[in-house]
Amino acid sequence: MSNRLRKETAGKIFMETLKEVLGACYKVHAKEIEDLVIQIHDHPELSGEEELAARVQADFLESRGFEVKRNYKGLNTAFAATAGEGRPHICFMSEYDALPGMGHGCGHNLIAGVALGAGVLLKQLLSDQGVKGRVTVMGTPAEEKRGCKIDLIEAGALKDVDIVLMAHPSNRATSQSVEESGIMQFAVRFSGKSAHAAAAPEDGLNALDAVRLLFCGVDAWRQQLPETCRVHGVITDGGVAPNIIPDSAAADFYLRAFDMDFLLSMKTRFENIAQGAALMTGTTALVETVKHTYKPGKPNRELNQAFMKLAGEYGMAPEWLERSRASSDFGDVTYEVPAIHGFFNITGQAKGITIHSKEFAGCAASPFALGQMEKTAKILSEIGYRYLTSEDFRKKVKDAFPFGSI
Ligand SMILES: [Zn+2]
Repeated sequence: MSNRLRKETAGKIFMETLKEVLGACYKVHAKEIEDLVIQIHDHPELSGEEELAARVQADFLESRGFEVKRNYKGLNTAFAATAGEGRPHICFMSEYDALPGMGHGCGHNLIAGVALGAGVLLKQLLSDQGVKGRVTVMGTPAEEKRGCKIDLIEAGALKDVDIVLMAHPSNRATSQSVEESGIMQFAVRFSGKSAHAAAAPEDGLNALDAVRLLFCGVDAWRQQLPETCRVHGVITDGGVAPNIIPDSAAADFYLRAFDMDFLLSMKTRFENIAQGAALMTGTTALVETVKHTYKPGKPNRELNQAFMKLAGEYGMAPEWLERSRASSDFGDVTYEVPAIHGFFNITGQAKGITIHSKEFAGCAASPFALGQMEKTAKILSEIGYRYLTSEDFRKKVKDAFPFGSI
């Protein structure tokens, strides 16, 4: 990807490398992008409430000549900003929600910075080089809580998109987009009958016992589950006082697996265990799915290879990492079109900083993190440019897409 590009300045034609062009272009926007990323960091907004973050990004892109749709697909804090025409159509995704009690402990303010940077860089390349195609920066709200990428997909937001690129900050090495677990989330409530626990326990049906048996059933099941799966729960309602047989008790559970069919089979088993606990206690069980199901993330191999090669060229010392048991609504994106969300390290030499912590939130506004964000924005724009200009690369990416043709 070290093609030399034609550049015209004051009537004179120069030939520059792609990296020289991107470097000069980013400089023009750098201060505003960095200010915006710090502003989002310093005004953390929870999932679905990201009004300032959505507005400042949409304003910025509008000021750079993008055609902006706010309240995209009926979601208050979603947006889509597009430049260029026709196909191929490259989409950079932005996230910008914070976590309760710790601000940007997942560093999503930097995801926004990468998407904005990549967007303006690729737009510039499109117009300077006369390349056919389109670039969209898509603002996707509430990753931490609801998973609005799934709402956007269901509303057709990726229908005419060819590839999706995103990048997430990390406390580990800069790495490829790793395979991630799918997740299903359940709220279980048992209903029984209250009674005096000492004077008339025989009149009661104990809903807390049903919750305890649900946990026991899950623990027995766990022994036979593949090592890659996860089931974890908490009791959210265990009754009110020891002298009252609880007539109502509840628990939340998460189920995770790397294979969607297996995850669905786990759902059936989990529901059966809950019904078994109800049978044993004479209570009734209500098992409800909460939020969206996130599919297991299946990143595109060719896009990953391009990301890793470029991360090396930008001096980010990338490492291929193991798959992760974490889950994201980005998983669903990987079933729609070839897609990756690579990881870029923002903690530098500091050790022992975990993601989803106040310490990580501190790193998410550091000069080092902003430097890594800049490099990553350039990487994503280079991948987008390559997809637009290389038929060979397009074919490889499509051939590696295992979920149908695009
Ligand atoms: Zn995150």
